[in-house]
Amino acid sequence: MAVYIVLLGPPGAGKGTQAQLIAQKYGLMHVSSGDLFRENLKNETELGKLAQTFMQRGELVPDDVTIAMVRERLGRPDCQKGALLDGFPRTPTQAQALAQMLQEFNAAVSVVPYIAVPEEVLVERLSGRWTCRKNGHVFHEKYNPPTAVGVCDYDGSELYQRDDDLPATVKNRIKVYQEQTAPLIQYYRENGLLVEVDGTKPIDQVTNALLQAIEKAA
Ligand code: ADP
Ligand code: AMP
Repeated sequence: MAVYIVLLGPPGAGKGTQAQLIAQKYGLMHVSSGDLFRENLKNETELGKLAQTFMQRGELVPDDVTIAMVRERLGRPDCQKGALLDGFPRTPTQAQALAQMLQEFNAAVSVVPYIAVPEEVLVERLSGRWTCRKNGHVFHEKYNPPTAVGVCDYDGSELYQRDDDLPATVKNRIKVYQEQTAPLIQYYRENGLLVEVDGTKPIDQVTNALLQAIEKAA
């Protein structure tokens, strides 16, 4: 049966970093809604243009648009074995839509690791984040530096700093997370799917804790 893992946590918690490592290990697709929006932005699609105004302000793209985009992505053949979801769902409506679309695939969410990181750590994480142009790989100038400054270790493409990682936008993204996404912690706890992991530990320790949580649940 296909395995669907939802990585939950505030912006900067380490979802993308961990998804990269874990998806490889289990042969699952890493599906990041933020990466999908940035891909559309780069390709100047209608969806990209629509998303841009919300992303620039650190707000959420409307549910209907986001759900349709993720539904299309999960329906592709490379997600047949399941997926590691990063950044989706972000609202209760999205969580319900996910449950419904997985039911259509005769599947369900397997486990929801929640990467807990306090707010004061997030700003430093995001202001030092460098993202790869080609595939969205992430680095940190202090905590996870690339081998060569400005170059992605995985695909050699250029590293850049996201516009929405500027401190003013980060503050709004954290506020939006608290208001709209944090309720999902309780939602998945009540469903018996939530496993909390301490995201303040070094990257490899967080990976180990996540792998343990996933193995236990699978
Ligand atoms: P998210 O996808 O949750 O927004 P990222 O995975 O992009 O978060 O991580 C945000 C930043 O923090 C990146 O620069 C990343 O290299 C760094 N980072 C991720 N995990 C850790 C960690 N455990 N300790 C220190 N820095 C981390
Ligand atoms: P991320 O890459 O996860 O940090 O997301 C970057 C931005 O993309 C967010 O600040 C939102 O504007 C938008 N976005 C990503 N995922 C979602 C989602 N599930 N729902 C709404 N907006 C999203």
